[in-house]
Amino acid sequence: MDYAYTYGEPWRLYLNVTNRCTNHCTFCVRNYRKGLGGAILLGGGEPDFSLLRDSVLAQNSFSEVSEFIWCGYGEPTFRLELITESASWLRSNGARIRLNTNGHGCLIHGRDILPELSNAVDEVSISMNAPDSSRYKELCKPGFGQSPAPAEAFWKSMLDFLSRAPAFFKSVQASVVGMALTGEEIERSRRLALSLGIERFRVR
Ligand code: SF4
Repeated sequence: MDYAYTYGEPWRLYLNVTNRCTNHCTFCVRNYRKGLGGAILLGGGEPDFSLLRDSVLAQNSFSEVSEFIWCGYGEPTFRLELITESASWLRSNGARIRLNTNGHGCLIHGRDILPELSNAVDEVSISMNAPDSSRYKELCKPGFGQSPAPAEAFWKSMLDFLSRAPAFFKSVQASVVGMALTGEEIERSRRLALSLGIERFRVR
């Protein structure tokens, strides 16, 4: 798979470092596309720092990248060590770093990872995806038979990450998938995010 790719603006470079995920969302792009923007994002092994650096440099635009985005065709916090190890090099030309996450990182690692992440990431976008736990379960299928943790634990983990994120990152956004929810559900999600102190809300 390709570990670094552009999609849209050339000054944004996306970093795809795992296909592992704690969710199995009904709307996940992985269900119907192997990649985006000409990049192959599924399959193959996960990169270490050296492989990731080679992939970034192969884009021939390192000095012009102003934003790196950890995204994955999967949940990037599975690669927490790589995220923290890469931060100073990625920032070496003044770029900022964003993380797109499902908010399960603390559950994945069994500890609070926000302090560690805050040293390596400037902005986070958290996939909230639903206004309540039962819709979250339906749409995101957390655990998907691969985790002993109950589905409710994944919803709570995401909310905990979301509510504490403003204390750790310069910018925090919650997002939902517009085509997966009704207008009323989108509004309830927005209100829930706001009640947790998150003002930036995106319908993607
Ligand atoms: S959390 Fe993201 S990568 Fe994981 S299944 Fe859902 S949409 Fe796909």
